[in-house]
Amino acid sequence: MSKTKEKLHLKREVNKIRDVFSGKIQITNRLKFYTLIGSIASVHIFLLVIFSVFHILPLFVVNIFSILTYTLCFWLMWGEREHYLTIYFITYIEVILHSLAATLCIGWKFGFAQYIIAIIPVGFYICYTLDIERRKFALAAISGVFSAVVFVICKIISFFREPFVVVDHAALELFLYIFNSLCAFVFLILFSLVFVYEIKLSSSQLKHQNAILDKLASTDPLTGLYNRRSMDIFLSQAVESKASFALIMCDIDNFKKVNDTYGHDFGDAVLKGIAKITSDQVKGHGYVCRWGGEEILILINNASKESSRHVAENIRRNVANHVFELNEKWIHCTLTLGIALHDGKEPVEETITRADYNLYCGKRNGKNAVVV
Ligand code: GH3
Ligand code: MG
Ligand code: MG
Repeated sequence: MSKTKEKLHLKREVNKIRDVFSGKIQITNRLKFYTLIGSIASVHIFLLVIFSVFHILPLFVVNIFSILTYTLCFWLMWGEREHYLTIYFITYIEVILHSLAATLCIGWKFGFAQYIIAIIPVGFYICYTLDIERRKFALAAISGVFSAVVFVICKIISFFREPFVVVDHAALELFLYIFNSLCAFVFLILFSLVFVYEIKLSSSQLKHQNAILDKLASTDPLTGLYNRRSMDIFLSQAVESKASFALIMCDIDNFKKVNDTYGHDFGDAVLKGIAKITSDQVKGHGYVCRWGGEEILILINNASKESSRHVAENIRRNVANHVFELNEKWIHCTLTLGIALHDGKEPVEETITRADYNLYCGKRNGKNAVVV
């Protein structure tokens, strides 16, 4: 691999990792369930070996059943199958039964009952992740309460009854207690982490979608300028702020002729080009909106007669000097601009009418002009 290729490959890998952490890549349900089933099945395989080495036959048999149960779960996910909810309930029942059996068989001290607690958040997480209706959340809550009841019953029984199998091996007792505690904590921490990660992911996706919707609702799709709805908001804000502002109404000269001679697509390209020139000139000083078909309304904040004329003159000159091009056709276009300053008292509609009137004067006096 050449050095540049190697660098590119490395960059792609880094980006992939960054994508996972920035939430662009989703952890699929399939991956989640394979991880859940795989990790619980591995714990059972390990316990199977332990129980076989220490000749605890009843729990050896119970673990064989557990492993068979998870084999069934894998089968339920084979190919295109997605029986996720069934898998969760099978897993839940298996964990409860296994913890119960192990506690009653060899005693409370080995720490098997901890799995009854560890399985509780999994239910809520699965309901959240599978996006199922509220009724199922009630089911997860009921499973939680049921787990608490089983946990307490388990303790009471083991308090009053001796275990079926007496395992007189202090080191094994300590080892299994620590192993079970660690497994239970890993489950709790892992599921809580993934849960928080997914909530964060969906909230950032929602924010992103809202930003897109906001943009769609506030801008004009052809020119990318603000639409009239947004301008109405900016105008009311400007009036409320009591600061002086100017309105510049622009209209493309002889635009019908452009459309008739070069086609509507060319007209659109001219409109886009003029929108770009206008926004570039106004940037940081106010707002530009597509007011009507080929009319652009500009709001200049804290403007004087001179400053607004300066901005309008720059726009007029830049448009007049620009060559608009589409499909190897080139034309020149001009703009006429009418300016009105808001006097701080009059309704903003009147300022718009005055800007419109000045625009009309500019048109009547030969176009390609700025009138204040
Ligand atoms: P004047 O110099 O007096 O302004 O003449 P004009 O031909 O520009 O007349 P007017 O301002 O009335 O022109 C409006 C034209 O703008 C009519 C319509 O075909 C065109 N127009 C409006 N919206 C669009 C658009 O989105 N795309 C294109 N290509 N043309 C549009
Ligand atoms: Mg017009
Ligand atoms: Mg026009």
